[in-house]
Amino acid sequence: MHPNVLKVLVPQHTIAARVAELGREIAQDYAVRQPLLVGTLSGAFIFMADLARCIDPVPDGLAVDFLRASSYGGTATVTSGEVKLGMQLKTPLNGRHVLLVEDIVDTGTTAKRLVEELRGQGAASVEVVALLNKSPRRTVDMDLRYCGFECPDEFVIGYGLDYNEMYRSLPYVGVLKPECYQ
Ligand code: 5GP
Ligand code: MG
Ligand code: MG
Repeated sequence: MHPNVLKVLVPQHTIAARVAELGREIAQDYAVRQPLLVGTLSGAFIFMADLARCIDPVPDGLAVDFLRASSYGGTATVTSGEVKLGMQLKTPLNGRHVLLVEDIVDTGTTAKRLVEELRGQGAASVEVVALLNKSPRRTVDMDLRYCGFECPDEFVIGYGLDYNEMYRSLPYVGVLKPECYQ
């Protein structure tokens, strides 16, 4: 375990098993709908890569694209409430069935904003899959179609999630030691 990690919340093998389940469920649901997976950078990059490979059997026309969204900036550990979007999708969304792939849904502000953006670009449907769900902290109404794990109200890192751009490469989801927050 990384020396700055207080505890592991979701071990690597537990993540892998759940991601495989989600992948099979999504494969069934999108069997005839040519899904476009839209990953939100940077937090969802590992989840997106693992999930995409677990969507089996592969639906015809499955494609991937990426958006960038940020609401924290630097060393904050709670959302600023203002969602900054970066990067344009490469894919025209008209008629596409979009599955937005998120690392974590906390207040729900970011996911809701992104869903509105994707619908605005003409998607035929937009659903959300998140690895982690801090459901007790939700402040906006948004429909989380697929969720890996419920997450306690703690600041978590690893498996794509950062603190000040660090710890994304850890293969598990964990809680940082308090002394690591300056
Ligand atoms: P929301 O807009 O739902 O409040 O926040 C969503 C975004 O905040 C996530 O995509 C993620 O980037 C960040 N976030 C929320 N909770 C955590 C957390 O516990 N750890 C980390 N690293 N990021 C979080
Ligand atoms: Mg995110
Ligand atoms: Mg972050």
